[in-house]
Amino acid sequence: MNNLLKKTTKTIIISAVLLGLGTQAHAKKVIKWRLATTWGPTLTPFIDAPRNMAKMVEEMSNGRLVIKVDASNKHKSPFGVLDMVKAGQYEMGHSASYYWKGKDINTLPFTAMPFGMTTPEQYSWFYHGGGLELMQKAYKIHKVYSFPGGNAGGQMGGWFRKEINSLADLKGLKMRIPGFSGEIMADLGLAVTNIASGELYTSLEKGTIDALEWVGPGMDINMGFHKVAPYYYTGWHEPAAELQFLVNQKKYNKLPKDLQQILKNAMKLSAYDMYIQNYHMNVEAWSGMKKDYPGIQIKSFPKDVLDAMKASNKKLLTEKTENAPLLKEVLDSQDAYKLKARKWTKISDYLYLKDN
Ligand code: CA
Repeated sequence: MNNLLKKTTKTIIISAVLLGLGTQAHAKKVIKWRLATTWGPTLTPFIDAPRNMAKMVEEMSNGRLVIKVDASNKHKSPFGVLDMVKAGQYEMGHSASYYWKGKDINTLPFTAMPFGMTTPEQYSWFYHGGGLELMQKAYKIHKVYSFPGGNAGGQMGGWFRKEINSLADLKGLKMRIPGFSGEIMADLGLAVTNIASGELYTSLEKGTIDALEWVGPGMDINMGFHKVAPYYYTGWHEPAAELQFLVNQKKYNKLPKDLQQILKNAMKLSAYDMYIQNYHMNVEAWSGMKKDYPGIQIKSFPKDVLDAMKASNKKLLTEKTENAPLLKEVLDSQDAYKLKARKWTKISDYLYLKDN
């Protein structure tokens, strides 16, 4: 009896030690990743999306997946994020899909399209209307997964040194405006360029550009654009601008299933947090703008300019999709979803807002 008790106790102790060792060995396996962003280290709220995501991942995984976020001052390549994730130099990226349109036209429509969907319409399309699947289809060639990374909402049309009273006033201006709207502006006679956030103010101040669009009042006023270009135009070009997380496929596929799920949830939640954080920043900035910055002139583009933008949008889309079947598939999907969703938006939001 005594012997049996001794034996059982010994077995329990050995099992506990083994179990303990097992747990310890498991806990010690820490996967370390790096993420490259297009944004500078203080660019709130864009930079907060990947940072919040990394914090959530570390906490939810109990420290098993640790992601270090490098801002653009660290890797010095704000528009090289896709290339770096593709090459495996970074496991992840955070940027805007339309920055790569020059390299791969199929990545263009996932950030924003002129006269396109609003933020709730776009999120519905991504998560329930086939958008997320089409985004993976477009990024497959780069061996990268792409996920929504936070929405900047409806953006302002940009800052201009002088008032735009007609189409003729736009001609010859040098403007920073990325994405497809940049191509429309080029079609209307502007010299168009894309410039990273850190160099925007200097470019405007030095006259390298005469006008620029950035985001909305919450982010724009901190940049000081109004000091040089006080005419602030309402938007047409980015009615919803979704940023993107990029993940190297090989690295993602190697993660255990639970870490993949944690990563996906953290990306989704941090994207939503960035959207509402940015909305709040716009609310605060807009409400104090008239008093704090009386020099800012709020304007909307005149009808002939908007008509020309719409006509150019239609013409350029037809040209662009002619030999680009995947781009056409994505744009057709967005158009069909917008058409369907807009009927509801007009009843639920527009009709209510009209009278309240
Ligand atoms: Ca923008």
